[in-house]
Amino acid sequence: MCLKLNSKLVGIIGGGQLGMMLAEAIKKLGGRVIGLDPNHHCSITHVCDEFICASYDDEEALRALCEKSDVVTYEFENIKGEHLKMLNEEYNIKQGIQSLIDSQDRLTEKNTARKFGLKTARFFKCDNEADLVDAINNLGYPALYKTRTEGYDGHGQVLIKSKEDLAKVRPYFNTNAKGIVEEFIKFDYEASVIMIGDNKKIVSLPVGHNIHKEGILDICEVPFDGVKDIEAAMKEASKGFMRKAGYKGILCIEYFIKDGEFYFNEMAPRPHNSGHYSIEALDYSQYDLFARYLLDMTYDEPKLLHKAIMKNILGRDLINVDYYLTQAPGFLHMYFKEEAREKRKMGHITFLDMDLKTFMEIEKGIE
Ligand code: AMP
Repeated sequence: MCLKLNSKLVGIIGGGQLGMMLAEAIKKLGGRVIGLDPNHHCSITHVCDEFICASYDDEEALRALCEKSDVVTYEFENIKGEHLKMLNEEYNIKQGIQSLIDSQDRLTEKNTARKFGLKTARFFKCDNEADLVDAINNLGYPALYKTRTEGYDGHGQVLIKSKEDLAKVRPYFNTNAKGIVEEFIKFDYEASVIMIGDNKKIVSLPVGHNIHKEGILDICEVPFDGVKDIEAAMKEASKGFMRKAGYKGILCIEYFIKDGEFYFNEMAPRPHNSGHYSIEALDYSQYDLFARYLLDMTYDEPKLLHKAIMKNILGRDLINVDYYLTQAPGFLHMYFKEEAREKRKMGHITFLDMDLKTFMEIEKGIE
């Protein structure tokens, strides 16, 4: 009998940890990977078969990657629209580019969320002083200013607690940055829904509880009792949104949960930090499912095999890695980053069969 191997070459634009873990999943299935990133020593270089070192603006290099690949995806979200359109017309970007283009602009993504049935915090566009005054008159304090583009992990945001804080927003008007001001939601929890598929079939991961520290994801807990009553509704609304918006591939939606209602905050059309736990805790991880999608293989609703806690290891947490691992067996994933900065994501640890209370007890041992 001749076994037919799936040896397709997948091109990944962006070589960070998300690209690296996706590459690992693709290679487990017999696929091959070519990565593109401006950094010679980025995470994906430790896993991929071929690598193109080039900037995301280098049209020739992007073309070279696509030319070689059977299917192309991205883990870097700020590729320019003009490049995306060109690549999408000529090559096989199986997930398309619409979700990426929409997610690049907070105003567009929130309008799209509303258009296709999801609730959001109230928001107003804010490009100048008059917009700012108008937004605050409508929303009151506290409110949040966010740049429309290139904001992540709390970057490009100003918490406006009082009139005095308006001065912190004004410098953005001089940089031509366009922004929004949105209602501050005193949420009970943050949680995300990660989906894989297209209009033929969409599957989703269990909804995890995301705990942030200084705007950066710190811990993810799965399953999460706080969403038990609304998990089915969250998944259904999220899948409905993905279908109606015509998005394909992978999509993570981050929500605020307050009084049993869920509010769309933002979306990402790539594997997501809040889904790292799935590598060990599910039968198929977000990376496995997306790899199967890209390689035209079958995929099904994943099953939770273990409850889990995922702890992000930022530069400032490196000193505690040994401590964590002496407290409980955990799966450590390091991202091969050469330079450790305080808030840079350097790795993560997943603890299976652990609940949040136990993890918090372990954390108390850190001075
Ligand atoms: P973002 O870049 O929009 O994901 O924001 C980073 C973090 O800031 C979120 O994960 C929340 O913890 C917090 N945040 C963002 N928007 C709001 C909001 N409208 N109300 C309350 N907290 C928010």
